[in-house]
Amino acid sequence: MTRSDPDCLFCRILQGEIPATVLGRSDRSLVIADIAPQAPLHALVIPRRHAVDIGAFMAGSDAEAELADLIAQALALAKEKKIDRTGYRLAINTGSDGGQTVGHLHIHLLAGRPMGWPPG
Ligand code: 5GP
Ligand code: ZN
Repeated sequence: MTRSDPDCLFCRILQGEIPATVLGRSDRSLVIADIAPQAPLHALVIPRRHAVDIGAFMAGSDAEAELADLIAQALALAKEKKIDRTGYRLAINTGSDGGQTVGHLHIHLLAGRPMGWPPG
């Protein structure tokens, strides 16, 4: 499985080739501010291992531990930003109908306004 793709936007951010506002990091992941925020807090939790979507990601040999790290990063940021009491949304968009536009798995953390359901 490819660990890094030179043509992938998020791999390039992970490599430091494209700047981003870093909100958190671990040895397995990076948390950045979304460039086009859809809520007062809109962060992206990005695994360091390149995988096009959640399906490809979960095929990795250490995927469960990596996924746990991604969730832990999101929860740590929620606590740090003190939105863990007011609430937040975690979202993984997958494929074209899922609204995925960047082909490197990421978890959205959205907070700071009521989200409504279903999303548009
Ligand atoms: P998706 O639509 O794939 O679920 O989410 C991709 C997200 O990446 C979008 O919310 C979009 O605003 C964000 N994004 C796209 N390009 C960049 C970029 O260059 N930097 C950052 N920080 N976010 C980006
Ligand atoms: Zn990538």
